[in-house]
Parts: sequence; structure tokens; C-alpha cells
Amino acid sequence: MANLAKNFFMALSNNRFLNESAQKWGFRLGAEQFVAGTDIESALETVKQLNALGISATVDHLGEFVTDKQQSIEAKENILTLINRIHEEQIDSHISVKLTQLGLDIDEQFCLENMREIAGLAKRYDIFINIDMEDYAHYEATLRILKKLLEDYDNVGTVIQAYLYRAEADMDELSDVRLRIVKGAYKESEEVAYQTKEKIDENFLKLVKKRLKGDAFTSIATHDHRIIDEVKRFVEEENIDRTNFEFQMLYGFRTELQKQLVDEGYQFCTYVPFGQDWFGYFMRRLAERPQNIQLIVKDKLYTKDNKLKRKPLVVGSAALAALLFMVWRRNK
Ligand SMILES: Cc1cc2nc3c(=O)[nH]c(=O)nc-3n(C[C@H](O)[C@H](O)[C@H](O)COP(=O)(O)OP(=O)(O)OC[C@H]3O[C@@H](n4cnc5c(N)ncnc54)[C@H](O)[C@@H]3O)c2cc1C
Repeated sequence: MANLAKNFFMALSNNRFLNESAQKWGFRLGAEQFVAGTDIESALETVKQLNALGISATVDHLGEFVTDKQQSIEAKENILTLINRIHEEQIDSHISVKLTQLGLDIDEQFCLENMREIAGLAKRYDIFINIDMEDYAHYEATLRILKKLLEDYDNVGTVIQAYLYRAEADMDELSDVRLRIVKGAYKESEEVAYQTKEKIDENFLKLVKKRLKGDAFTSIATHDHRIIDEVKRFVEEENIDRTNFEFQMLYGFRTELQKQLVDEGYQFCTYVPFGQDWFGYFMRRLAERPQNIQLIVKDKLYTKDNKLKRKPLVVGSAALAALLFMVWRRNK
């Protein structure tokens, strides 16, 4: 059942028709719980609120299905604006980018040039740029672009996905580069990736522990309290400097645990996505953890003291779920 739900939401996240329709419907379906608005002002307001709690941020201007150069240029301009605003307003934040949004599927050289502009401006203001890792089809090209950028800029890094068999080798090759370690969000084949939670968790901890013994900065990105507890234990035991790593979680997830880690004196960074193109990101979060739907439904239907607040929405939600399911079946 869990796998069925996972595949269902993953299929929706890749559906161009629904992604485009969602932009027209507006910002709905409970996405506001996980996406910090559709414009830069809302995103920066959210980051300022996090900063006030002692939390830094990495901001991601969402964008999927980019097919022409003009769209990539607009995405790049938005990211440059974001960098300028972070600098001008002295906000504690870096930037996360996706190379497909910057033209990777159109022309690798064009994408590299876009990234050079972004990394160059960010370097001037001492802002770090993280290149998010997308599905395996884009993996090699992402590493190629990162390595070219590293020849000229030291303010760029990327993500290592623990579900990949090759993760450790790639991590070792990037031993002096700032990296984020994650489990991996895409559906990959058993040719390239571990398929079970046990194997992925085991590799995640192995990678994190190895990195923490090195010198470069590491972001440990997970909502898994068991892994976080084990990392905390390891850090104490090995006397690892807390300035050399941070925990990261996505905006809207486990906010109490986020604050708790800050109170315990750990560096913490929240990943803050925003933009019109929220549908694919939102569906991937539901695929990772279908229980997130419960959080949304509860938030929409009930007041804090558990009173039903919006009955018609039940009908609306059920109708929407049925519609999505039909589209999914049709596309299979
Ligand atoms: C900051 C950040 C950046 C990321 N960047 C990338 C990227 O660039 N590329 C990529 O492929 N993936 C990325 N991911 C996604 C990542 O790969 C995982 O898919 C995602 O984080 C789910 O794995 P998990 O370790 O958080 O927990 P899971 O393995 O999903 O859950 C493990 C356990 O943790 C607990 N748990 C998890 N979530 C919750 C919750 N919301 N409430 C209560 N308990 C919970 C539950 O007990 C659950 O069984 C990123 C994730 C984060 C946090």
C-alpha cells in the first residue's frame, strides 16, 4: 500500500499537464504548509522568521519542465535577484539550484554559463550555491558542471545521495568540497541504487560518519530522528567540531525538532522552496511520506481544539483525489 501511494505521487510529480494546471489553479491543495509562497517576498519573509529563531536557510526557486532557453534565462535572473536581496538585506541564507531549471536538458554549455553567472555573483557576496542532485539521468552531467565550476569558484557544492552505490566513491572524490548528504528522493533502478530502507539508512550513516572525520563542511539532511540521534552520539564520542557540520530539514517538516536541535546548540539550516512551480516538489514530498497528507487534511479541516472547520473541503479533497487517480491511471 505504501509503495502504491509512493508510485502514485511520484507519477503525479512527473506529470507535465498537472504541473502546468497547478500553476493555473494557484497555490492550493495544502502546499502552503511545505512551500514558502509563490513570490520572493514571501520566501524572504519566511527566511527572516527562521533567522530570528537562530536557523539559517537555503532558498530554492522552484522550477520544473524547462524546455527553452528563455525559461532558463528567466530562472537565472530570478536567482540573481535572490542573491542580491540576500546580500542587501543581510539575510542568513544560501541558495539551492537545480541544473535542469538552468538549461541542462537544453544545452550543457549554456547551463554551465548560467551557473558561472550565478556562482560569480554569489562569490562576490560570499554566498554559497548548492547544486541539488536530481535523478540519475542527470547525475554525470551535474558532476561535470560542478567540477568545471570548482576550477574558478570555491563557493559551490552539491548533494550526495546515499541510495546510489557510487555515492561513497563520488563523496571521496569531493572530499574538500562542501556537500549535503541525503538518502535520495527519486525512483532509481536496482542497477544503480539500493532499494531497501535498511541498506539506504546504513549507507547514509556510513557516509556521514566518514565525512565528519574530514575537514570540509557537511550538511546532514534528514528528518529521521533515529539517524539524527546516532549522528549526535557519534559527534560527541569523536569530539567533532560542531562548526564543521549542520543538520538540514525541509520547510514545514518537524518544526519542533528543528527548534530543538537549535536549542541543543547544533547549527541548523532549513531548505525553503518557493515559486509558482510548486506541484512537482509538493508531490515528491507526499511520495516520500504519504502520511504528510494526514497533516494537511488535519490542518485544513480541524481547528487547534479538534473542531471541524471546513466541511465542504472534504468533498473537494475527495473529488480532487479521485481526479488525480484517474489521470494517473490514464497515463500508466
Ligand atoms: C534539506 C534537504 C535537501 C534535500 N535535497 C535533496 C536533493 O538534492 N536530492 C535528492 O535526491 N533528495 C534530496 N532530499 C530528499 C531526501 O533525499 C529524502 O528523500 C528525504 O529527506 C526523506 O528522507 P528522510 O531521511 O528525511 O526520512 P525518511 O527516510 O523518509 O523517514 C525515516 C523516518 O523518519 C521519521 N520521519 C520522517 N519524516 C517525518 C515527518 N515529517 N514527521 C515525523 N517523522 C518523520 C519517520 O519515523 C520515518 O520512518 C533533501 C532532503 C532534505 C531534508
